[in-house]
Amino acid sequence: MEWKKTACILCECNCGLEVQLGGDDGRRLVRFRGDKAHPSSQGYACEKPHRLDYYQNHEGRLTQPLRRKSDGTFEPIDWDTAIREIAAKFKAVRDQHGGDKIFYYGGGGQGNHLPGAYAAATRRVLGSRYRSSALAQEKTGEFWVSDRMLGTMTRGDFEHCQVGLFIGKNPWQSHSIARARVTLKELARDPARTLIVIDPRKSETAAMADIHLQVRPGADAWLLAALSAVLVQEGTIDRAFIEAHTAGFEAVERVLADVPVAEYCRRSGVDEALVRETARVIAEAKSVATFEDLGVQMNRHSTVVSYLHRFLWLLTGNFGKPGAQFVPTPIVNIAGGAESGRSSPVAGARIIGGMVPCNVIAEEILTDHPDRYRAMLIEAANPAHSLADSPRFREALDALELTVVIDVAMTETARHADYVLPTATQFEKAEATFFNFEFPHNYFHLRHPLLSAPEGVLSEPEIHARLCEALGAMTPEDVAPLRAAAEQGLDAFGQLFATQVLADKRLGAIAPVLLYRTLGPVLPAGLAEGAAVWGAVARRAMTDAVSLERAGFGGGPIAATNALFEKLLASPSGVVFAVDEWSTVSSRVDKPNRRIELALPDLLDVVAGLKDEDPTVVNEAFPFVLSAGERRSFTANTIIRNPEWRKKDLRGALRMGPVDASKLGVTSGDKVRLATKRGTAEVTVEVSEMMQAGHISLPNGTGIGVGPDGEGGIAPNELTAVEDRDEFVGTPWHKWVPARVEKVAG
Ligand code: SF4
Repeated sequence: MEWKKTACILCECNCGLEVQLGGDDGRRLVRFRGDKAHPSSQGYACEKPHRLDYYQNHEGRLTQPLRRKSDGTFEPIDWDTAIREIAAKFKAVRDQHGGDKIFYYGGGGQGNHLPGAYAAATRRVLGSRYRSSALAQEKTGEFWVSDRMLGTMTRGDFEHCQVGLFIGKNPWQSHSIARARVTLKELARDPARTLIVIDPRKSETAAMADIHLQVRPGADAWLLAALSAVLVQEGTIDRAFIEAHTAGFEAVERVLADVPVAEYCRRSGVDEALVRETARVIAEAKSVATFEDLGVQMNRHSTVVSYLHRFLWLLTGNFGKPGAQFVPTPIVNIAGGAESGRSSPVAGARIIGGMVPCNVIAEEILTDHPDRYRAMLIEAANPAHSLADSPRFREALDALELTVVIDVAMTETARHADYVLPTATQFEKAEATFFNFEFPHNYFHLRHPLLSAPEGVLSEPEIHARLCEALGAMTPEDVAPLRAAAEQGLDAFGQLFATQVLADKRLGAIAPVLLYRTLGPVLPAGLAEGAAVWGAVARRAMTDAVSLERAGFGGGPIAATNALFEKLLASPSGVVFAVDEWSTVSSRVDKPNRRIELALPDLLDVVAGLKDEDPTVVNEAFPFVLSAGERRSFTANTIIRNPEWRKKDLRGALRMGPVDASKLGVTSGDKVRLATKRGTAEVTVEVSEMMQAGHISLPNGTGIGVGPDGEGGIAPNELTAVEDRDEFVGTPWHKWVPARVEKVAG
């Protein structure tokens, strides 16, 4: 049987895969192996993709557009009717209230970022100004801090570091670094290297670590302040680096010199001697790579923690050298944290990287404010399941004048839509991810389809092209000359496209769908949906010509664009498109005089004010801290809608430490009632040595409501509250939910 190349879509690594198809209809994904030719994963894959057929083939698959009837049920309609009615209704909202009342959510998940690129055309045509995605409940704090300090994003070189530090991160299960388990094992086994983990749980990664700082849940800010303070107070900072590459150190030094290390260690629950030893290991290392993730980014003081985290590598000079932090060349920068100066129209929330904080979306709808959002276009996302306070978000969806969902399945969100448009799965079209952050060799993978889409289903680019046409924004006259040029080849097309789009703002606005309609039809079979990648490559060829040239794509912007694009089309395992050098990393700091800004006064004030806060105080009504959304061996995201995908932990057990279990008189398999200020749920207990006393965790996982006996687990956002969010960027505290647990009688 033929092995076909694609990639795993279950985490941001998007490891290259080879898949065999089978089953009665030849549409089952039956065998998997890592793709050795993939530039990043090089044959590596964990166990999760071996059951990806549960994503591709499931009962909830949609194959017809649906329209809600007045009685609340759905009826199938044809595509022409669907597109015509949706375009007319969006237009009515735009004309009556303004396009900025049409909110866009989603655009992609772990493996599918092309829908968002095409949706940009529809949004511009409609005048939609506000958008968001799951990134705005996870990463915007880090993006914002990184942008303010360095003007760019950074990542760590774990392959070559002497010390690897993970903060609120369990890469054994949540990955995020290339060939995660291989890299972790190499780090852990080498006596000359040190693996450090900061995590309240004894996670799989923490269990391998040389140093585990088992912090009290939600007390990371005190721990990181203590670590940074030890560096300053013991004088082990890299003064030469600080003087050469940073600005504002004096203000930081003043605050850190004043930190009561012993007291902060007590508050964080970590032994002071271990904190001091860890700071010395970091200070003395030749190189330190670090990674912070959702354990701290969806927790108390998340933005301040992102700030303090950066002190650990900036005060020790771990930037711009092998084994330390680097600035990658992404094909599309989706990790930008620039603050536009705009705020959300109702809540006045800070917009980072163009995204409204997820926790204020419902608030921006459920109001009589004249600027409230009145319509939503949602694609490749399931916010009714994944955002805090699901009941309130459902109420918000129901209050909208128009909700349109584009998805492969009847999700929790789709159930509240006025129209549901069925789209191709990630294996039925050309797709790609923009999570490409490797260094010094960075890659891009334009995935080829494994299968054709079933009848009745359209890809997102086709849907957006039809919407733009129905709105009168793309005419046959716009398409014809470019289509003719495309027939002549990429050189003729590239010249004409660049000229026309630069000369005509209207065409620039619809560039992605214009590429799809003109270049798409001449691309090799199955790759039409990759047309917008040409535009992304063209932009990168203009901004990072040297990096592309080192990878073999030179000769000026158009020549480099076309050569790279052709290589992507012909390379089903992906292509190294950029080659960088460590010596140039510092020059990518986008701040005055290329100096990293250490002093961010608003965040420094909070660091100074930590003295007045005590994270050890127990909430008597809700004495446990629930971490919602734990990554386990068979959890991913809600794109898998059949709970049988999980080989174990079918119902997503509540993990609890042995001390707490004994106090409650429960053991693994018992049912308990879990209560938060927002809701209650009955869950099954798993007693786990991973958990410290007072800390409990629930997994994220499949979409809800798919198993008759609770298979798939409970939906944690039935229990979370929107007001529990970061003070600066509004990211939710999913990893710090005060909770109560009661034994269920019998
Ligand atoms: S590491 Fe991530 S992308 Fe790679 S195989 Fe595992 S889940 Fe898939």
